[in-house]
Amino acid sequence: MRRRLILLGPPGSGKGTIAARLQQEFGIHHISSGHLLRREVEEGSTVGQRARLFLEKGELVPDGTVLTFMRGWMKSAPLESGFMLDGFPRTLNQGKALDVWLAERGAPVEAVILYACDLKIILDRITGRWSCPKCGRVYHVYSVPPKVAGICDDCRIELTQRADDREPVVRRRFGIYARQTKPLAKYYEHQGKLTVVDAALSPDERFAKTVAALN
Ligand code: AMP
Repeated sequence: MRRRLILLGPPGSGKGTIAARLQQEFGIHHISSGHLLRREVEEGSTVGQRARLFLEKGELVPDGTVLTFMRGWMKSAPLESGFMLDGFPRTLNQGKALDVWLAERGAPVEAVILYACDLKIILDRITGRWSCPKCGRVYHVYSVPPKVAGICDDCRIELTQRADDREPVVRRRFGIYARQTKPLAKYYEHQGKLTVVDAALSPDERFAKTVAALN
């Protein structure tokens, strides 16, 4: 099985759900740049202070900051048991930098899965996404509703919505994806590493197609 992976796709294409299952079933380590950056923002670290406004507006954090930050994480990425990058790289520049870092360790990316999706599906998915501010559990108004509307099943406190999951911000994030991140698909296609999976399929079908592509 190919175990050094990049998951590409617009926000809301379901990369995170697939990554969680790949981690659980195959022990491939999930590295989500968005999750790591949000944590820095919450902790108020230097990186967090630099990144905060970009995250809130749904814009990309500048390459200089992201590259320094992700380089640190990639130094400890497990090469044998594998890793999947979710949310990084997001620009051609970041993709090229990643190739250099991994070449230094003799362990290039082995497969890139692109979850292709149109804006309408994404709006339905993301704008219905709410999470618990305490335990981080993610719900969805249609597909994974909490037992009591708006309340976490476990912590019994009110669910919140990520500032960047509101509709105008989602539209902006999709536009940025189309302009800046989609060109990466061509880059990996030229390297013979790209597989496209239809993100409108059910989570089980997406997972099965992903596993098939890795084997
Ligand atoms: P995500 O959870 O992947 O949608 O990321 C949330 C936000 O974090 C994005 O809208 C960006 O502001 C920031 N971010 C995450 N990864 C990157 C990256 N590779 N380059 C620039 N900004 C990023």
